[in-house]
Amino acid sequence: MEMENNIIFYTYGSTLELSGQQFDAGRLTEELLNLSPDDYRPMHERMAHITELEQSYAKSKQLPVWWELNEEMAALCQELRSWTVFRLLLDEDEDRYFSVVRQVTEQYDLFAGEEYSSSPESTILKLQSFVDDFFQQTEPRQGDFDLFDPDCGDEDMYYQMLLAVGATDETWNLYCGHIDRYRRYLHDIRAFVPTIRNFIKFILSKLKTNSPETYAAALYDFYNDRRLAEKLIVNPIRCDGDCYRTHDRHMLSYVPRELPDGSVAICQEHVTDSLQALMKADYMLALNSGYNIRRCIICEKFFLLKSGVHALYCEGACPHAPGYTCRQFGTVEVQKELAKNIPKVKAKLTAFSRITKDMQRGSITQEEARRAKDYIRDLLYDALRDPNVSVESFTEQIDAERVYHFCQITRLSKQRGRPPKKKAGEAL
Ligand SMILES: [Zn+2]
Repeated sequence: MEMENNIIFYTYGSTLELSGQQFDAGRLTEELLNLSPDDYRPMHERMAHITELEQSYAKSKQLPVWWELNEEMAALCQELRSWTVFRLLLDEDEDRYFSVVRQVTEQYDLFAGEEYSSSPESTILKLQSFVDDFFQQTEPRQGDFDLFDPDCGDEDMYYQMLLAVGATDETWNLYCGHIDRYRRYLHDIRAFVPTIRNFIKFILSKLKTNSPETYAAALYDFYNDRRLAEKLIVNPIRCDGDCYRTHDRHMLSYVPRELPDGSVAICQEHVTDSLQALMKADYMLALNSGYNIRRCIICEKFFLLKSGVHALYCEGACPHAPGYTCRQFGTVEVQKELAKNIPKVKAKLTAFSRITKDMQRGSITQEEARRAKDYIRDLLYDALRDPNVSVESFTEQIDAERVYHFCQITRLSKQRGRPPKKKAGEAL
């Protein structure tokens, strides 16, 4: 299939530039990874409806069906625009295209009963009269909308032709290409987001050290370990035909360009028709720059870190405590403060102090105490996110005996476990 090449972006240093906007590498990925299954579902359902209408129109050629399909496409475009990458990929030209098609499919309602399908001869006639019209024009035409803005280039010509020609098999075929483009966007969301989420969850977040070298080694294993690849990478066999590709088609050129800030850099210019290619360029450039995307253990949002620290919490607004960021919420001081109002936090602090005491007495080791606390902390955030977990059931869950049992920790009594320390002055 011929590439449409409707995505052009630039990379230089650790920056990605799309539609004249510069981003730190990883920013677009950070946002797209936060597209949840709940966000995705309505778009998926809308696309299913669009596909039905597409098949229905192909059979019946009833213009009201195309009109409805076009409305659905315009709505899907709006939904996608909740994410920066789609706001930039689907610019105002999209709106113009939808409104031209709206006009074209609406006008036939006025002539209901007349023949809908036009013969090649009538298409040529209409085109001819359009071209005559076009060249006679000296002043921009006054229209209902700014389609005839004289500043507009070739796109405008195309819209005018579409308006003049109306609904034909040719314009319908072009429209189908447009639907396919959206279909590929949704496919690439389904392929990219779960794969990279898995990579972060099962591989990256387990690394002992964070650096471009360890990220690269991790990605190498992720791609090449068959067992991991089959389970964690979206593939056609397991995922109903969906495919995360390790290779994408780009046209790559090195070009000296003026940047938005006026400076000049030699940029890599990427031309592609694939959202996956764009997202991977963004994410891989982030990894190569030593940036990391992690998932906040409190709010579960993905966040970009420009250093290799093992941060557990993001800097975003904490969902459990207005006025605090997740990172602040994670600190002991703030938790003590919040314990007054949040009973689950209070229960967690009580459990922590019991574990600390056991450690000070020597009945569990420092490492065991850390493991038990990590486990309780995870339970706390789960419990805070889930209003169905009552304070009572949470308190039961984090009961010390239960936690030790779960973490396979055996409390030792001093006498059996360790030799008693010699007290000062004691005879040898
Ligand atoms: Zn957070």
